Amino acid sequence: MTHTSNILNSKLREIFGYTSFNPHQREIIDVIQSGRDCLAVLPTGSGKSLCYQLPAILSDKKLAVVVSPLISLMKDQVLQLNQLGEFAVLLNSSLSREDYSTSITRIMSGDTRILYVAPETLMKSHILGILEQISLSFLTVDEAHCISEWGHDFRPEYRQLAAIRERFPALPVLALTATATKRVREDIVANLHMKKPALFVASFDRPNLFLRVKEKNNGFIQLTTFMEKFSNQSGIVYCVSRKETEQIAGKLTKQGISALPYHAGMSAEERNRNQEAFIRDDVNVIVATVAFGMGINKPDVRFVVHYDLPKNIESYYQQIGRAGRDGLPAHCLLLLGYGDISKIRYFINQKENEHEKRIANNQLSVMLGFAEATCCRRIPLLQYFGEHYQKENCGACDNCSGENQNELRDVTVEAQKFLSCVWRTGQMFGMGYIINVLRGSTEKRILQNNHDRLSTWGIGKQHSKQVWQQLGRQLIARGLLTQDPAYGGLKLTAAARPVLRSEKTFFGKMDQGKKPEKTARQKAGTPNRDEVLSDPAKRNLFEELREKRKKLATEMNVPPYVIFSDRTLVEMIKYHPSTLAELSEIHGVGAVKLKRYGEIFLSILNNSR
Ligand code: ADP
Ligand code: ZN
Repeated sequence: MTHTSNILNSKLREIFGYTSFNPHQREIIDVIQSGRDCLAVLPTGSGKSLCYQLPAILSDKKLAVVVSPLISLMKDQVLQLNQLGEFAVLLNSSLSREDYSTSITRIMSGDTRILYVAPETLMKSHILGILEQISLSFLTVDEAHCISEWGHDFRPEYRQLAAIRERFPALPVLALTATATKRVREDIVANLHMKKPALFVASFDRPNLFLRVKEKNNGFIQLTTFMEKFSNQSGIVYCVSRKETEQIAGKLTKQGISALPYHAGMSAEERNRNQEAFIRDDVNVIVATVAFGMGINKPDVRFVVHYDLPKNIESYYQQIGRAGRDGLPAHCLLLLGYGDISKIRYFINQKENEHEKRIANNQLSVMLGFAEATCCRRIPLLQYFGEHYQKENCGACDNCSGENQNELRDVTVEAQKFLSCVWRTGQMFGMGYIINVLRGSTEKRILQNNHDRLSTWGIGKQHSKQVWQQLGRQLIARGLLTQDPAYGGLKLTAAARPVLRSEKTFFGKMDQGKKPEKTARQKAGTPNRDEVLSDPAKRNLFEELREKRKKLATEMNVPPYVIFSDRTLVEMIKYHPSTLAELSEIHGVGAVKLKRYGEIFLSILNNSR
């Protein structure tokens, strides 16, 4: 190891309390320190902030400028940094006059290392004037995809950032984003006039997220059963409609689970209050529409449930990405309702614009490709980001863990019966009729049509109506059958042929009423929180530490995770430090936090012996 990397490592320890760098962090910091431009594409939770925070703090008497579009995120970062030492200031239009001028004074005095600033504030001529008088280390453009019209979050004010390159031509720039497409990447480089930037693109895999998809049959019971494992922990439930978020939050509350809704129909004030309550651990669960999550930096979200099918796989990825940012295991559950899919299909078919229709259909089929995958879920998910997932068994999805093995089986013969019954009745009848023929009904309509003489009449008596419906939905969802949205008539598609000819096996579920087996526990991340806390005494200790953290946070008016993350608390319990020196070895305990909170937490730990 070289001398400088030793210094970096020890500073990482000393200031942030982390033992090692995450993938790419060190390399990115090296590039920054060498003064070269850099574009880093790293998924959410990979620790992008540290890539500029550490070199900025280490730079001698210089100021790093960080542009970010989200005021709440900036505030959060400044709070956290100032817990580590008085390192950062903030400038944006939300500041009071007084706070604004305090920030300016601190910038001028040269005793601060990082300026967080909104793009439109940075471009003001008096701010640029001030920056010209002091010594700058580098410019960071956070959420750099906002500069691209091809990204999902284009912000015109980002386009003006190009001007700053002209004004400060020698200032190196670090662009950070979690959006991976090539087009966006090229746009960033071009629009920021980056000079031969070093490029880092990380894997989009989040190994600590356990991915699970279940067919939705009784959504609310499935939700509460799933949530049993997470009592007193933070989680997000995503729903499609505003009304649903309120209903579900209400029902959860009645069951003694602390939950609040969040959607764009609520007043800004109410939304803020609910979001704050979540961030500060005053409420455990937020039941939200997609409106929730931008700018949420809470590291200890332990689960994300999709109560309805997300619009596309990109939003799904972003939403599950809000879980487990601290690197500890977190769980994602998607409830797949086949009825919902038919509804979505219906709405897509209503679209008049053929191009839009194609895009929507394509997005739906990519989403279903993930939701109905029988292989490792990481394969279709990462494929979307252009990645080829190689591992045999990811160890953190329902398909790899084997918990679905009892659910999926070869149902080719049943599928053939169903499909050929659709064919023989002339591809005009709905599901109910087809099932009645299969089950040998003598209903008047069937007799009138002479369908009791078909070879498929009565060949499916062994299954209940519900079980056949379940199969029928899967045949539709996987595109072997199409359903007339208005009349419900079923038709075969080209995809049905290889199954009918036994050239392709159809794996599916025909298990209505049978309870799925309980899951094998997953292993991921370090340390294993669930394992550590499985002992009731340790669990109590954890609650005690959390309570203390909450109390300190309230006193200081900051979110609890600013004091210590869950991971830090879990490590305290696992390694049980009894001296300040031992405590400083724990993840997330840097010099300042050690001094500020060390004794307080040690006394709780020592009392629990
Ligand atoms: P991103 O911006 O990429 O989504 P953040 O910068 O918010 O990610 O970091 C995510 C979490 O990881 C934070 O809680 C941060 O403190 C933590 N973190 C960052 N770097 C490290 C590291 N080297 N070791 C341990 N934890 C880290
Ligand atoms: Zn897997």
